[in-house]
Amino acid sequence: MPLYEFEGRRPVVGRTSYVHPLATLIGDVTIGERCYVAAGAVLRADWEAIVVGDGSNIVVSAGDQGAFVIDTGAGKLTDKVLAAIQRLTPKPIQFIANTSFHVDHVGGNAKIADAGADLSLPGSFFAGGGAVLGSLTTGLSRPVGSTATMLAHANVQVRMQATNAPADAVPADTYLEDRRRKFYNGEGVELFHYPNAVTDGDSIVHFRGADVIVTGDIFTTTQYPFIDVANGGTIQGEIKALNAILDKTVFEHEEDGGTIIVPGHGYVSNEHEVLEYRDMAVIVRDRVQVMMNAGATLEQVQAARLTADYDTRYGANTGDWTTAKFVEAVYKTLKPQAPKPAAAPRAAPAKAPAKK
Ligand SMILES: [Zn+2]
Repeated sequence: MPLYEFEGRRPVVGRTSYVHPLATLIGDVTIGERCYVAAGAVLRADWEAIVVGDGSNIVVSAGDQGAFVIDTGAGKLTDKVLAAIQRLTPKPIQFIANTSFHVDHVGGNAKIADAGADLSLPGSFFAGGGAVLGSLTTGLSRPVGSTATMLAHANVQVRMQATNAPADAVPADTYLEDRRRKFYNGEGVELFHYPNAVTDGDSIVHFRGADVIVTGDIFTTTQYPFIDVANGGTIQGEIKALNAILDKTVFEHEEDGGTIIVPGHGYVSNEHEVLEYRDMAVIVRDRVQVMMNAGATLEQVQAARLTADYDTRYGANTGDWTTAKFVEAVYKTLKPQAPKPAAAPRAAPAKAPAKK
């Protein structure tokens, strides 16, 4: 593995990750677990630290008011993540938003919130005092303002509390509406909730000035949609959410460029890749629906390998989210449709009453 030290800092690679012999890592690079660094890749951390592979993607907006962090990863590399944020801005981390309650998105919450501060009025992101109420309900022991304010859809809080997550990791500033918004660091920031997509508490975040959309796991470049049926995910909600994201994107040239899409996992993308992902979801749904309408069992649907043409792109036979689990989630969240009634035979024209 070609790893080069720079100013005393040497790349660190997780045990389960693979770096191709033709890739180059320089300086303060940290590769977490289960990452693949392809041939020809150059990760050159001679200016900023590069942190890859601590669960979900982490996005930071840094500006005059402070830092706003979207998702906090799995929490295994949080010290590195904090160091990277602090190199972006000397201002405190004021807000953290979670796109999901899944552990790979909230793992660093407590530590990153603790390193931050929100000196504005309580409940400042969502005007209306949510933080005070939320703090009481989560039993947060520290005074409001001494940590960053954590925000998410209300169901994220409910799900985290149900799994006994530590109170200092649970978002207290929650919302129930379809959309929340605020002007922050010189641009409009909007959170949108899409019900029953991956879970029942998914949010996307749209930075309108930079035109960056952080999609959470509604869109990834690494796997089939992670539809968590037990926690409210459905294929129909997933497709609706992908369509809603596409309603907000613009492309620069033939679907490339334009709005920057940061997926929950994988590489930074654009409208075109979301479009392909949406089409895949629609096609797989329709194939499953047709078999289901004909009375097929889940076993029969699995055996038909309906995703075969997409498996090299998104499929997996091992790990947390296999192709079989995805197909099962699609099947379980669809209902058989009754065949459309055939057109009724045209009634014979009423005979004119016989003339007497
Ligand atoms: Zn995830």
